[in-house]
Amino acid sequence: MSTGVYKQDDPRLRPVPLDAYPWTLIPSPPTPNAIVKVSLIPTSKLVAPLRLFTPAGDDDETEEVPSWSFLIEKGDESILFDLGLRADPEHSPRCVQNTQDGRVCLGAGTHGYAAHSRRKIVEGPLRQFKPLPGKGPIERLTEHEYDLSRLKLVVLSHQHFDHYGNLDTLPSPAPPVLLGPNSLESIGPGYPADPNAAWPKSWLDKYRFVELPGADAEGAWEGEIARLRLGAFHGGQHELRWERVGCFDRGVDWFCDGSLWFLDGPGHCPGHIMALARVTASPPSYILLGGDASHSQDLYLPVPTSPEHDLRLPLPVIDGQPQLAVDPALATYTIGQLTRMSAEENVMVLLAHEGEAEGVVDVYPGDLGEWKAKGWKEAKERGLKDRAEARRRGRT
Ligand SMILES: [Zn+2]
Repeated sequence: MSTGVYKQDDPRLRPVPLDAYPWTLIPSPPTPNAIVKVSLIPTSKLVAPLRLFTPAGDDDETEEVPSWSFLIEKGDESILFDLGLRADPEHSPRCVQNTQDGRVCLGAGTHGYAAHSRRKIVEGPLRQFKPLPGKGPIERLTEHEYDLSRLKLVVLSHQHFDHYGNLDTLPSPAPPVLLGPNSLESIGPGYPADPNAAWPKSWLDKYRFVELPGADAEGAWEGEIARLRLGAFHGGQHELRWERVGCFDRGVDWFCDGSLWFLDGPGHCPGHIMALARVTASPPSYILLGGDASHSQDLYLPVPTSPEHDLRLPLPVIDGQPQLAVDPALATYTIGQLTRMSAEENVMVLLAHEGEAEGVVDVYPGDLGEWKAKGWKEAKERGLKDRAEARRRGRT
């Protein structure tokens, strides 16, 4: 964990050059149906100071950003990746509820922070988030008469309230909830046992949570995580384990055909994970669901054309502290992984709050697998290079 005071140009926050990342070939699809269908489901939105997301934001500038949920379908079974914000914030634990001025204190996940910075975060910039309630993914799927019995797993990119939605809306029996490594110890014991906790204790008691193993897990996984695999796609032969894929040291091939990987993506908060989904087989193309590894295109784009011409911005620093990253060094490395993956012409990265994609990509029941054919990657990044170039000229 990094400590100390940072300046905005601190070398520790400098974007990592792409050649610093190792590369492991992403396996070819073994069969034409070794893919998943990924759909974007809009939920509530958030208003936040832009300055928390990018150093290019002015001090008083705010931004309204989406908070997305994704339906990942494989045959008759499906997974929800993130649930967005809950539609009824008034039923949240106290520290997540709106305060009188309509703002929200984001306490979720702050157990993972050092005590001194926890108070700073809860009472500082994260207090400036304002939720704009809207329908959750379950409600939207129901409107489309989606058969919720097909939902076999919920995956949370991380533990924050703008991703955990409302577990109480899940169908009964509720699917298990998969979390990144070491999430639960930073969530527990839940509210009101801990008056500052952002997770209801009732959820922790009621639902089945399973964590991905830590970075040090060697060999095939055992125990609950090994039993969690979805039925139809596992012949019982494939063992789950951390494997290298692309520029990632740790990915798990969930369906054992390379169609869906969950990736360890640390830095933003304890247990932050991402997903890499193969959405077409011939030729293969992918979507990388980046969660909150970054909150702005400015940090992972544009992809540098050379080490000398790198227009990416570092994590924003306010009052000497890098924002929205419990471990700034790890977060900076993970953001560079988004850039490295985005350098592949058959990979489109999508952040959980990447508002630039709004109105560009189709939403559920539309299929994000059409991104390449429809030019959505270029469309959501249009003008970005020019803006970054203008910023650079403004600096020099
Ligand atoms: Zn978020």
